[in-house]
Amino acid sequence: MSFFLWTVRTYRNCLIRIVTTLNVLLEELFMTFVEILEKLSNVCGVTGREDEVRELMSKFLKPYVDEVKEDNLGNVIGIREGKKNAPKVMLAGHMDEIGLLVKTISKEGFLQFMKLGGIDDRVLLAQKVMVCTEKGPLHGIVGSKPPHIQKEDERKRITPYDELFIDVGAGNAEEAKRMGVRIGDPVEFDVKFAKISKNIVIGKAFDDRAGCAIMIETLKRLEKTDCTVYAVGTVQEEVGCRGATTSAYGLCPDVGIALDVTIAGDTPGIKEVDAPVKLGKGPSISIADSLLITHPKILRMLIETAEENKIPYQLEVGLPGGTDAGRISLAREGVPSGTLSIPTRYIHSPTSLMSLADAENVTRLTVAAIQKIPKHF
Ligand code: ZN
Repeated sequence: MSFFLWTVRTYRNCLIRIVTTLNVLLEELFMTFVEILEKLSNVCGVTGREDEVRELMSKFLKPYVDEVKEDNLGNVIGIREGKKNAPKVMLAGHMDEIGLLVKTISKEGFLQFMKLGGIDDRVLLAQKVMVCTEKGPLHGIVGSKPPHIQKEDERKRITPYDELFIDVGAGNAEEAKRMGVRIGDPVEFDVKFAKISKNIVIGKAFDDRAGCAIMIETLKRLEKTDCTVYAVGTVQEEVGCRGATTSAYGLCPDVGIALDVTIAGDTPGIKEVDAPVKLGKGPSISIADSLLITHPKILRMLIETAEENKIPYQLEVGLPGGTDAGRISLAREGVPSGTLSIPTRYIHSPTSLMSLADAENVTRLTVAAIQKIPKHF
């Protein structure tokens, strides 16, 4: 090859690489909220195995913060520096999702599993799942016995999870191992994101990829604030808010806000007193749950902000369970904290449903609250 040709080709290849990189960067910068939620919802992030979500979160946070770092437990932390003496606000969206872990591989090639997070045994039966192996994802199903051969009492009882198994189509244990299955592999539900109407989306792991996506959107829109903002994608929330505990200790914020989902109790068979929050009626501001009684200053600030900005909101009291805010509030000498939630149907099941209007209003309220915090703290 002549020197001239070699030089032209080298320059051309460099140019192609630069254009491709710029394209990827621009694409990420102009991704809509729905596109970001879709990407986050579709990846595997079973509790304690949040790597794929962490990678996306770092990429999505980067353009809107001064620094992105990862701590010892795997929390991803985006830092937007504010004024020196202004309050430091920690936002938390948990990256993990409920799921399963391969416990044993039977000699016939079936996988027994343990549950991570609150999963109702009734929703497991006959589900399509993905076993996330080192060799890549493997399709599988949670096996079930056809009704034809079930005994009367079998039909009436709920099969406990430890009597269920995952079938990846392997003929025996050796074949399952050859396919890549190892004990301890995480297993996610095989559900893909979809927009089913103008305003409604369904998908996997909205608890709490919806909170993660809102956190990114909040930073994107947050133009002026004196506060330092820590945007934290936390790990292991579903098994006791472990990532929030360590990240809040390390960051030592002045205010904590968890962005999470809550039960939309507006489907048949749910009493208003058990779950009063409804889909499409705006962010839920939690007053008290099992882990946190929202600090009065935070509660007042969130309600005032919603009213001043004409953002619809719902108040929620006494929901069993808690969010990262509960753990943030107990860090060091204590951190005034609260939770803003997106009303979501069918949480802790394979597929959830939420309204984009609610997500938009949670984002608006979070942005406005951060701007208001210096006046209150
Ligand atoms: Zn959650």
